[in-house]
Amino acid sequence: MKLDEALDLIAEVPDFPEPGVLFRDLSPLFADGPAFAAVADALADTLDPAADLVAGVEARGFLLAAAVGYSRGMGVVLVRKPGKLPSVAGRVDYSLEYGTASVELPADVVKPGQRIAVMDDVLATGGTVAATAKLLEDAGATVTGVSVVLELAALSGRSTLDGRSVHALRTV
Ligand code: IMP
Repeated sequence: MKLDEALDLIAEVPDFPEPGVLFRDLSPLFADGPAFAAVADALADTLDPAADLVAGVEARGFLLAAAVGYSRGMGVVLVRKPGKLPSVAGRVDYSLEYGTASVELPADVVKPGQRIAVMDDVLATGGTVAATAKLLEDAGATVTGVSVVLELAALSGRSTLDGRSVHALRTV
């Protein structure tokens, strides 16, 4: 399947999770085998050849990182929401439009000097991916780049990523 056709499966849901927000739902894309494969292949093509590992942000980022990691024979780092890990190497708190959120890194997974590519489904304000990059860098890793399926340009996520290499399969 062509990448554009796959990306056209992303649904737009008005007023979710609150009035005025247009939520992009990737569920139909994930549920379509050829579309999921086209997206995973395209994300894998964005990888810096120097990357040693792929990090996925809970939860949809896990699917993407797992598919890319499997196809390239690379291991996957699970960047988790708080309260899920028995042993935590680090935590970064960040601001959302309303309230705060956090990401945590499992202990004994990332080694200093490793080069890690970050994957997520949607880049909105960039807060989640920026926090993830900081988490990995605090552990001594280098972030080689950030790859997302969809970038919401109006929310200027790229500008929070300080010139990092950002690959979006589609920008709207
Ligand atoms: P950010 O931190 O504002 O960039 O938001 C990105 C995070 O929120 C990602 O982990 C996404 O999974 C999620 N997210 C934000 N907007 C959407 C959306 O429209 N559809 C699906 N996920 C979204």
